[in-house]
Amino acid sequence: MKKYIKYVIIAVIVILIITILVILNINKKKQENKNDEKLKIVTSFYPMYIIAENLVEDTTDVELVNMADINVGCLHDYTLTTEDMKKLEDADIFIENGLGMESFLSKIINSNEDMYILDSSANIQNLIQINNEINPHIWTSIDNYILQVKNISEGLQKQDSKNAQIYKRNEKEYIEKLESLKEKYLENLKKLEGEKAIILNEAFEYLGQELKLNITTIEVEHGESTLSADKLKNIINKVKKENIKIIIIDKNDNKSNAETIAKETGAKIYELDSGLTGNLDKNAYLNAMEQNFIRFKTCP
Ligand SMILES: [Zn+2]
Repeated sequence: MKKYIKYVIIAVIVILIITILVILNINKKKQENKNDEKLKIVTSFYPMYIIAENLVEDTTDVELVNMADINVGCLHDYTLTTEDMKKLEDADIFIENGLGMESFLSKIINSNEDMYILDSSANIQNLIQINNEINPHIWTSIDNYILQVKNISEGLQKQDSKNAQIYKRNEKEYIEKLESLKEKYLENLKKLEGEKAIILNEAFEYLGQELKLNITTIEVEHGESTLSADKLKNIINKVKKENIKIIIIDKNDNKSNAETIAKETGAKIYELDSGLTGNLDKNAYLNAMEQNFIRFKTCP
């Protein structure tokens, strides 16, 4: 009899464990279905993520994911990882900078044909072109950046009408902040108009254009750490001859080129933030641009 009770207890325990496992599995499936109902937005890289982060605030059933690692920087010659492809697999919307920055676009379109591609660069007019190549780093100009915010917001409103009013409100609030930052500084920085500057990072061409600097861009890839001795000598001669006082580089750039030029010519280095890398604070772009303007306030 005792043996019989023992078997009953074991049987009850086994049945209990099976029941618990079945319930857990049902809940997991429910959760998965819930996630499927969410609108999944994937941004290509950090600057796009910061815009989207501002726009999706307070929306319901929206999942925002950044594709490339936030420390990757620019996406020129970027190779998609299997992790990137996984993020894109079930995405509904892909937000890109555009202008060729996302050179891998055709690959991801082929892998997920249902995904809507939202190009932030649509209708931007003041594009800078060097050697037949459009400079895609448009966001370093606040005016361009505002247009990118508008483009992304409009696309989201169309694709996700349920949250349209929220996108509209967030767009308005974000653009107000951007406008007031621009107003606060551009007035002070009028003194820079026509000032000659050497830019050692093409990302700042649009910022230079907005500040009406008289810029000479030296083609240095983000990845390239040193200029050849000949190139450097030519730049130094130019800076001396034209009495250029400003050298602009990015916070992530190798400083050695700029330091050599500064040492030889007495020009001053302005180490700016192109907003290509940073933290995930939704005000990261505003903070980066404010720091850039503060640095310029002390200009010659
Ligand atoms: Zn770049």
